[in-house]
Amino acid sequence: ISILAIESSCDETAAAVIRNGREIISSVVASQMESHERFGGVVPEVASRAHVEQIGFVIEQALVQSELSLDDMQAIAVTCGPGLIGALFVGVTAAKTLAQVAGLPLIGVHHLAGHMYAASLSDGVEPPFLALIVSGGHTELLHVREDGVILRLGKTRDDAAGEAFDKVARALQLGYPGGPKIQQMALLGDPKYVAFPQAKLGEESLDFSFSGLKSAVLLHLDRATKAGQDVRTADIAASFQRAVIEALMTKTRLALQQTGLTTLVLAGGVAANQALREAAKEVCRELHVQLAVPDTWLCTDNAAMIGAAAYMRYKQHKLADLTLTGRADFPIDQW
Ligand code: ATP
Ligand code: MG
Ligand code: FE
Repeated sequence: ISILAIESSCDETAAAVIRNGREIISSVVASQMESHERFGGVVPEVASRAHVEQIGFVIEQALVQSELSLDDMQAIAVTCGPGLIGALFVGVTAAKTLAQVAGLPLIGVHHLAGHMYAASLSDGVEPPFLALIVSGGHTELLHVREDGVILRLGKTRDDAAGEAFDKVARALQLGYPGGPKIQQMALLGDPKYVAFPQAKLGEESLDFSFSGLKSAVLLHLDRATKAGQDVRTADIAASFQRAVIEALMTKTRLALQQTGLTTLVLAGGVAANQALREAAKEVCRELHVQLAVPDTWLCTDNAAMIGAAAYMRYKQHKLADLTLTGRADFPIDQW
């Protein structure tokens, strides 16, 4: 089964051809990084325009690189939410048009499901499993049941983990996107330089909170600057990264213990973080849990992961029709 998948929920325009949910035949990602860099973040209007400009070319490239044509596809898949609404509309409209013209079934894919099924492109993953999704806009613990039904066990009450990385990187003047820059800086720093506070959300809660941590970093910087001290960028980056990882692992450990699940899928852009991957490995070894993580390049937004998730839906005969639309806000348990 070959699926042509499209992703345009945020700031990458992407298309891919995926076979049987496992094999990447082609994958094209056009990043808008440069268009957004000077603003220090994604500007929705700029993103929509860039998608409109890129999408035709990106889809064409994905087909050319696959050495297949539309006639060889069994379905068209597209991210239908959550994300920037104008950005989503571009991909959804393109996918509907292609499906209609080629007479192919259409599959709407939840962006976070895409992130977690990216793991099936490297390690095979079959539900049931626990998923920790850590991305630019989300931090969630999900229980994916054997029948594919997804239950949300916890989420962030304020900032997402990736958002915290981006904001702290900005305060440290490391540039955008912040995650990779903090990771790099942290390698040179002392993770025990500052003991940043952990959010207190109750012993049994599986929710996260990162805005307090972010504020603590900003406050620390402010104090150092006012006292005329040098800002120890690497040490602060390392201490911040350690605090985020600790918070993520504490709740993940708890969720594994509460559910008794024996597989953990770690996914989303922040799952590209090497220190987090190591920490998750450690927790899983300790709890005798199997760990599945996408290859680093498949952690951030791409269409291959959308094709992988779409294959699950295809097997369950969960197809969309031409009323499919984009949803900016889209709780995963409503997918
Ligand atoms: P969402 O998936 O929630 O809609 P998004 O699609 O914008 O948001 P992703 O592409 O999944 O987000 O991930 C981007 C985020 O991942 C950014 O916040 C970025 O800083 C972070 N990130 C990328 N690489 C790393 C890394 N090595 N370490 C930490 N964070 C990282
Ligand atoms: Mg992005
Ligand atoms: Fe994403």
